[in-house]
Amino acid sequence: SKEDVQAFLKKNAFVLFTVGAVIVGIVLGFALRPYKMSYREIKYFSFPGELLMRMLQMLVLPLLISSLITGMAALDSKASGKMGMRAVIYYMTTTFIAVFIGIIIVLIIHPGKGSKDEFGKQQSIEQVSPADAFLDLIRYVYSFYVNPLVLQFKTKYGKRAVHVTVTVNDTLFNSTNGTQEVTEITREEVIPVPGQVNGVNALGLVVFSMCFGLIIGNMKEQGQLLRDFFDSLNEAIMRLVAIIMWYAPIGILFLIAGKIVEMDDLTQMGGQLGMYTITVIIGLLIHAVLILPTLYFVITRQNPFIFIAGLLQALVTALGTSSSSATLPVTFKCLEENNRIDKRITRFVLPVGATINMDGTALYEALAAIFIAQVNNMEMNFGQIITISITATAASIGAAGIPQAGLVTMVIVLTSVGLPTDDITLIIAVDWFLDRLRTTTNVLGDSIGAGIVEFLSRHELRTRDVEMGNSVLEE
Ligand code: ASP
Repeated sequence: SKEDVQAFLKKNAFVLFTVGAVIVGIVLGFALRPYKMSYREIKYFSFPGELLMRMLQMLVLPLLISSLITGMAALDSKASGKMGMRAVIYYMTTTFIAVFIGIIIVLIIHPGKGSKDEFGKQQSIEQVSPADAFLDLIRYVYSFYVNPLVLQFKTKYGKRAVHVTVTVNDTLFNSTNGTQEVTEITREEVIPVPGQVNGVNALGLVVFSMCFGLIIGNMKEQGQLLRDFFDSLNEAIMRLVAIIMWYAPIGILFLIAGKIVEMDDLTQMGGQLGMYTITVIIGLLIHAVLILPTLYFVITRQNPFIFIAGLLQALVTALGTSSSSATLPVTFKCLEENNRIDKRITRFVLPVGATINMDGTALYEALAAIFIAQVNNMEMNFGQIITISITATAASIGAAGIPQAGLVTMVIVLTSVGLPTDDITLIIAVDWFLDRLRTTTNVLGDSIGAGIVEFLSRHELRTRDVEMGNSVLEE
C-alpha cells in the first residue's frame, strides 16, 4: 500500500540517496572527463567531497576514544576479556583467510608476466626480517604520536613522470633505512602516513582508551563521573553523525565524480595492470561475498545478506571515502540502528576493528607483493610465501584506516622478501580504485565481526544485564 511504500522510503532514504549518489557520481565523472580539467579545477570540483571527508575525520578521534572507553567501562574485566579474545580470534582468522585467498588467486591467475624492462630499473634492497616488522608493530602500539619520515621518489607510469611523496611512520622505517632513493620533489601523489588518523597514531590511542575504560569501569562510584562524561560525549558525537549523514550523499557524489575525472586514461593501463586489477577484484569478492557471509551463517545461523543489507550505507560510504576510519561513524549507526547490535559490542569491536582488522588490505598486500615478484620474474618459494603472509598481516594491522595506507605499509611486505619497493609505483595508477574496494571489504569484515562477537558473547551480556538490573530484551 501507499503507507508501506512511504514507510519504506522513509526508513531507507539515506541508503537510497547514498546509492543514488554513487551512480550519479560515476555518470557525472565520466561525462566531465572529456573536458580535461586541470588539477586545480578538479580540486575545486571535488571540494564538497573533501568536506565530507573532513567532517567524518573530525569525528573519528572523539568517537574512537569515547566509544572504546564507555565500551570497556560497561563490562567487567572478565567479560571484556572474553569478548576481546573472541574479537581477536575473529580478526586473526579472517585476516589469515584473506591473505590465503589473495595468495592462491594471484598464483592461479598469474597476472604478472615477468617483463622487467617494461617497468624500469631495479634497485638493490636491504633485507628486513618479519621479526623486525613485528617488533616495529609492537613499538608502534606504545606510542601516541609518530614522527613521519618522508620518503620521496620519482618514477614513471604510463606516459607520465610522477613525483611521489610517501610519508612513512618512523618506527616502521628505522629498520628498513637505506632502501629509498630520494630525488627532487613536486607534489603529485601525497600518500598519508599509515597508522595515523589526523596525525595521531590510532593504534596507540586504541590501546590507551581500552586501558582507561577498563580502569574507570572498575572504579565503583569514584569512576561514575568519568563514565557519565564519556557516555555523554559518545552520545553527542553520534548525534553529530546523524546530522552529517544528511550531507553524506552529496559528499560521496563529488568524491566519486572527482576521482573519475582525475584518473588516468584506462587505455594506458596495459595488459598486466588490467589483469592485476581483475585478480584483486576476484580475490576481494571471494572474501566479501563468499567467505565472510558463510562464516556469519555458520556461527549465528542467521541470514548474512539481511545483515549486510543493514550495512549498505556504511559500505557505500567506505567506497566513497576509501577510509575505514572516516566510515566508522556510519558503521556505528548502521550496526546499532539497523542491525540492533548491542552497544557494548560495537563500542569495542568497531573502533578496534577499524584500526587493526583489515581483511581487504591484507589480501591486497599479499597479492600485490606476489604480483610484483611475478613482474620481476622472481619465483617465490614456499618460505617466502609464508613470510609474505606474515608480513602482509602485520602490514594490514599497521595500516591506518585512511586512504591508501595499505599501499605504503606494503613496503614492509616487499622488503621482507627482497622485492624492489620502488615497484609499488607500478600499481599506484589503479590503487585509488582498488583502495575503495579493499576499504569496503575491511568495513564489512569489522561489521560481520561485531555480529559474530555479539552472538558468541550473548551469555555474558545477559548475565551482566541481570547483575545491573537492566531489562533483558525478549528475543
Ligand atoms: N584505505 C584502507 C582503509 O581505510 C586502508 C588501505 O589502504 O588498505 O581501510
